[in-house]
Amino acid sequence: MLLFLLRRVKMLHAVKKVLIVYAHQSSGSFNAAAKDTAVEALKAQGCTVEVSDLYAIKFKATATAEDITGDVKNADHFRYAEETKLAWEEGKLSADIAEEQRKLTWADLVIFQFPMYWFTVPAIMKGWFDRVLTLGYAFTQEKRYSQGLFKGKKVMLSFTTGSQESMFSADGINGDMNVTLWPLQNGILHYCGFQVLAPQIFWAPSHVPSEARSAMLEGWRTRLQGVMQEKTLSFTPSDCFDGEKGFQLKPEVHEQHAATEYGLTAGIHLGKVLPPNDQMKAGV
Ligand SMILES: Cc1cc2nc3c(=O)[nH]c(=O)nc-3n(C[C@H](O)[C@H](O)[C@H](O)COP(=O)(O)OP(=O)(O)OC[C@H]3O[C@@H](n4cnc5c(N)ncnc54)[C@H](O)[C@@H]3O)c2cc1C
Repeated sequence: MLLFLLRRVKMLHAVKKVLIVYAHQSSGSFNAAAKDTAVEALKAQGCTVEVSDLYAIKFKATATAEDITGDVKNADHFRYAEETKLAWEEGKLSADIAEEQRKLTWADLVIFQFPMYWFTVPAIMKGWFDRVLTLGYAFTQEKRYSQGLFKGKKVMLSFTTGSQESMFSADGINGDMNVTLWPLQNGILHYCGFQVLAPQIFWAPSHVPSEARSAMLEGWRTRLQGVMQEKTLSFTPSDCFDGEKGFQLKPEVHEQHAATEYGLTAGIHLGKVLPPNDQMKAGV
């Protein structure tokens, strides 16, 4: 019994260090309020929180040779992935990248807080992904997806939209939000191994009454109180794909799912209907 209790206490306190990567230009914005609410709620439960305020630090969004201090290996044909891998090994990445990598290495949970821009993150945050998640540090050919380097870390997208929820439904004019989220949650976060928590979506805060916005922030605060215990989204395990055959789904996986109604994920349909809420809810 004592062992059980000790394990439970350890589990409850397992995630303590939180990095919030935040991208909004204005401290009066709803995104700022969401970020501030998170800092407050997480600190109140004993977490240590660091914030990377990307506009405030004027984070450089473009991946260029200036990201390496000193000479690059091949200036005639500069290849960002290979050059930054070498620079990371030799401690020659620029100070801003090294600082973000330090915070990322430190964190148990990373929250990306941003307004949706053109169905994805703002350019400054895309720049963070491009420049911080470098080859060798964040992924390798062998260490990605289920074997990804950050498999001990949790991550969450928390964002606002201009669109109403119905516009991002399966029948909505923008298409299914699960599809919109797939490149970010699978292609970046799960690719690097992160355990991905369901996203926090603040639908159209500019177009709802003030009380509704306050309710959204209260809902966020309440969610964060239990965030450390939340289940994560499911992705198809890497061993379902055959590395000898171009990482295609193995025939036996096809067979196992022959009679199922839905595809495996928002990305792997098996010629079937997309599983409902695949990228929005854990445990579906
Ligand atoms: C380049 C670009 C591309 C875009 N692409 C898309 C897209 O693809 N899809 C899409 O859906 N949308 C898109 N949008 C819209 C964008 O996502 C929204 O404008 C944004 O998400 C709104 O969030 P905000 O924090 O900027 O809101 P704000 O306008 O800053 O805030 C909304 C309201 O909340 C109020 N507020 C601030 N703090 C609090 C508080 N503490 N309590 C209560 N209320 C508060 C503010 O006063 C304001 O009235 C795009 C916008 C741009 C500029």
